[in-house]
Amino acid sequence: SLQGKTAVVTGSNSGIGLGVARELARAGANLVLNSFTETDEDHALAKSLAAEFDVSAKYIKADMSIGQECRDLIKAAGACDILVNNAGIQHVAPIDEFPLEKWDAIIAINLNSVFHTTAAALPVMRAAGWGRVVNIASAHGLTASPFKSAYVAAKHGVVGMTKSVALETAQDPITCNAVCPGYVLTPLVEAQIPNTMAEYDMDRETVIREVMLARQPSKEFATVEQLGGTVAFLCSSAAAQITGTTLSVDGGWTAL
Ligand code: NAD
Repeated sequence: SLQGKTAVVTGSNSGIGLGVARELARAGANLVLNSFTETDEDHALAKSLAAEFDVSAKYIKADMSIGQECRDLIKAAGACDILVNNAGIQHVAPIDEFPLEKWDAIIAINLNSVFHTTAAALPVMRAAGWGRVVNIASAHGLTASPFKSAYVAAKHGVVGMTKSVALETAQDPITCNAVCPGYVLTPLVEAQIPNTMAEYDMDRETVIREVMLARQPSKEFATVEQLGGTVAFLCSSAAAQITGTTLSVDGGWTAL
């Protein structure tokens, strides 16, 4: 059980981050939810998770594209036994047309934020005598696709940083691992379906099977619950000697 532990999950008001937060709360962890917005719904979400799982939960606004805000998030959390670096964005374009501001934003949010939150969290974990860092990388942290140079660079960077952090914490009761999802049906991915249907003149099922899941041999999306369960496992005592590695949740993508 993760009772009494506090989990900070970046980018957790939707998608995988929210799924991870839910599964950690189900295992008993207190939650710090985060995004770069701050709405009534964000605070209501924290309240409803607290009630559903009988844990404490708060929402803290912090923009993961800004290093100081990443570090301030850990400070404001008050405790940080589990750090899940999940916030991430995507942009798709050929490298010679890739907008500089998109490159910078992807590197800042998907890679630099992991540096800043981890740097701030490790002293807190060492003081507490226990810690888990789980980085949500991607199948694109292990393999590439065209037109995703920034995302692939950032996610490979996260996988590399995961290994360094694992070595630096190897003799502490702290582990650091990366989870590498294939395609997960989040609101972000769901929103791309209508456009892709129009672009290829295909029905929904064909778009999912032939376009989105073209490289996912299972021909099924991974779910946010499965991602949450994987993170919860990495936080369990069974995973105490698992560190510096990647765990793929990709329906066989990276076995191809
Ligand atoms: P999503 O858009 O549903 O969620 C992204 C989350 O990050 C949201 O909560 C958003 O508010 C937050 N976020 C974005 N910019 C932020 C910023 N500047 N500061 C703080 N928070 C910010 O996307 P998702 O699909 O749930 O993706 C979550 C993570 O999983 C990302 O790192 C993504 O790269 C990775 N991933 C997703 C898939 C997939 O198929 N959905 C596959 C592999 C990896």
